[in-house]
Amino acid sequence: MTATSIYTRTASLTDVGCVRSVNQDWCGEFVRDEGYRLLIVADGMGGHQGGEIASQTTVGVVGEVFQRGVDDPAALLREAFVSANARVHEMAEGEAELHGMGTTGVALLIGPARKAWVANVGDSRVYRSRAGKLETLTDDHSWVNEEVHQNRLTPEEAANHPRKNVLTRSIGVERTVEVDVVETDVKPGDRFLLCSDGLWGEVPEDQIADVLATQPPERAVQALVELARQNGAPDNVTVQIAVVPSRLDAAGGPEEDLEATLDGPPSETTLPLGAPEPETEARSARAAPGERPRLLIGALAAVAALLGAALLWLALEARGVRSEPQPPAPPEQERP
Ligand code: CA
Repeated sequence: MTATSIYTRTASLTDVGCVRSVNQDWCGEFVRDEGYRLLIVADGMGGHQGGEIASQTTVGVVGEVFQRGVDDPAALLREAFVSANARVHEMAEGEAELHGMGTTGVALLIGPARKAWVANVGDSRVYRSRAGKLETLTDDHSWVNEEVHQNRLTPEEAANHPRKNVLTRSIGVERTVEVDVVETDVKPGDRFLLCSDGLWGEVPEDQIADVLATQPPERAVQALVELARQNGAPDNVTVQIAVVPSRLDAAGGPEEDLEATLDGPPSETTLPLGAPEPETEARSARAAPGERPRLLIGALAAVAALLGAALLWLALEARGVRSEPQPPAPPEQERP
């Protein structure tokens, strides 16, 4: 298998937080052999299990559409989100207890040719850390963000505004949905973060930037959730990270080559200079003599995937145990 994005190292973690009894966030990761990898975070809203159902349904539907095959990535993402909207809306209309449920949705589709696509509805976010600098690749569909765009609120006022949870777009609440889809380039060493507002609303961006730029993904997801918890984590917290391999160019050229990077030594595939030592499993994989680096990187990716799956399973397990009756339904499109 030569598709490059297969080698993107990823990790995911979702946490109920310190206050809520139920985790209405959901996330998923899907891979296709042609080299496409899809990550998605959904932050559900609506009482009596509606929020959980909306977010899980959205992740499931988007994954289904993705698995049919990728021809036009931007069109696929749009179609997937529109399909999820239709499914969630239909379910909400069909059952009184689910009426008004909805969810945010943010997806990152990494392609095989140094391209990625981001789809967004709501106020979950995608960030990219490139050369240590954090950029936001999404624009929140929230009332406060629109006020900021109109220069009626400052970002600081928006962050503390009582209406900061009011969404102007969401999946499932209305019959139709408008989806933002943007294409972006992918460079060696890029680190992508998808998250719900339970992270970005509680942890300052400079701290997010620092963790994302310096920690391997398996540690970074834990560190980010821990930072949110240290700040009280009033909301559910979900983080997904995808790291594109990077290494110093062996030829000394200014332009790193993504394909060449994938054949580089595993010790340099995912960590910048000065980063902490990789996981023990990664070190033991690296120690295997005589194996082709590409296979080692595959082993690293497999270990990372297993770790991620185990963490996610643990998180979901914990969440299942803690499931309790939902709080009263919040107003339409507004998270409690
Ligand atoms: Ca939330």
